[in-house]
Parts: sequence; structure tokens; C-alpha cells
Amino acid sequence: MPELPEVEVVARTIRSEIQGQEISDVDVFWPRIIKHPDDQEEFKARLIGETIGDIGRTGKYLKIGIGDKQELVIHFRMTGKLKLLRPEDSKQKHIHLYFHFEGEQEGLAYHDVRKFGDIFLVPKGDYRAIKGLLQAGVDPLSKAFTFDLFQSLIKPRQRRIKALLLDQSVITGLGNYLCDEMLWIPGEQGVHPERLASSLSEAELQKIYRRMLEVIQTSIRLGGNSFRDFSYANGIKGEFKRMLKVYGRKGEPCANCGTEIERKIVAGRSTHYCPRCQPECIADHSCP
Ligand SMILES: [Zn+2]
Repeated sequence: MPELPEVEVVARTIRSEIQGQEISDVDVFWPRIIKHPDDQEEFKARLIGETIGDIGRTGKYLKIGIGDKQELVIHFRMTGKLKLLRPEDSKQKHIHLYFHFEGEQEGLAYHDVRKFGDIFLVPKGDYRAIKGLLQAGVDPLSKAFTFDLFQSLIKPRQRRIKALLLDQSVITGLGNYLCDEMLWIPGEQGVHPERLASSLSEAELQKIYRRMLEVIQTSIRLGGNSFRDFSYANGIKGEFKRMLKVYGRKGEPCANCGTEIERKIVAGRSTHYCPRCQPECIADHSCP
């Protein structure tokens, strides 16, 4: 499932490819992928003749400006992705939407094998139809996301740190691999994913905060593939994988200490950690 870095890479790459282009037609092959408006003819009518404006993101939601009064908002869920294709290639399986651009040889296709993705066309900044975006917490790449804010969101909570980090209404955009990676700290003791948030010291919160931003930035940098080749099938592919220290590495030696990485279910999600670098119980703190 794409997390914040993958969506940021999509936003950056399509910005250079489609910004400023005029939508000349829209093909809807699977209307149920459109969650708002309900009527697909209204969806098409509101798009045709409009120009692609600013392209950005909040958490895992991609936001494509349509003219200056509307936004096309996409949540990719498990398998959604965007591709640039020629019109004759747009009839293939798993393509649910296709945008034609005036005078261009290629249009934008939305491809989704499992069809869990959500697409909304809303007035700019009006997210009443998009519950997850309306309730989204702070985005880690926003200016508002200071250490003081992070500490105030985490420290008072009596919840396991990993469950809290996954909660999109607290911090938006973090998913399973980012959470595992940011609790393992290079060259230092990390944080066990089941530690209670309220038990974390300021020094531990500092480490998680710095590591979160480092992992996100590195992931974005390594994900800078060209748009046509961009893919995040199965979550992470190619370049992303090299940076992973614990996620998906069960049984492999920890890069800090050589202990085998373990895996267990935390907050309903497969969770990876080093039992030595990320101890469950540590001096001065209560055990989970
Ligand atoms: Zn270790």
C-alpha cells in the first residue's frame, strides 16, 4: 500500500507531466471507483474543458487541482496507480478512468487491480465528502509538524506507540513500513513498537521524530523513478527496498547489533523490530 513517500513521488512526477494540460474528454470504465459526485455524467461534465492546476498531497491523499475551483482527490488504497498511456492502450483490464488531454498523445489512466481506491471531485478545499481527509491529522512534511507538536500529540496518550503512529487522525500519511522503520534507530537504542506512548522520554521522542523525517525524505529521494516506470505494487519496490532496516527482514541480522529481526502482530499489523535494540522493557520506564 502506498504511504506518504510514494504519494509524494506521484505528486512530484505527474506535476511535471500533466500540469497545465486541458482535459478534452474523460472515459469512465468502472463508475464505482468515483465516490463523489454520485453521477458519472456530472463528474465528466465538471472535468471536460478544465485545465490541470496545482498538484499536491495530504497524507496519502493525492490532490490534483482542476481549474482553480475544483480538486480531484485520489486515495490509492492497496493497488491503485496512475499511468500515462496512449488512448489506444486505455482499454486494457484494470483501467477504470482515462483522461484525454487536448493536443497530447498520452492521457492519464487510473489503474487499480483490486478496485479499493477512491476518487473524489470536490470544490477546492471542501472535503466534506472525504471523511478520511476531513479528519486527517498533521502531515509530517508540513511546516506545522514541529517537534513540540509531535511531542504534544504522542506523550499524553495511553496507547502503544505503533498503533498511535498508524492512526491517520493523529499524524497522516504513515503506514506500516514507515512506522517499523522509524522505531529502529541507526547506531542507537530504538523503541519497541508496543511501548506505551506515555512512557517515552523526551530523548526517545526526539529520536523517533528525527528518524521519521529522515526515513520519509530518503524514501522520497529513492522513489524518484520516472513516471512511466513508477509502480508500487506490493507496497515497496526497487530502490525503496534498499533503505529498509527492519521491515520485511524477519530472521535477518540487525544492521546495528546482528541480532535476528523479529516479527509479531501489533495493532493488527505485521510488525518488525530488533529485540535487542528495541527492548520491550527498559530501565526507568514501565513495561508495556
Ligand atoms: Zn539490533
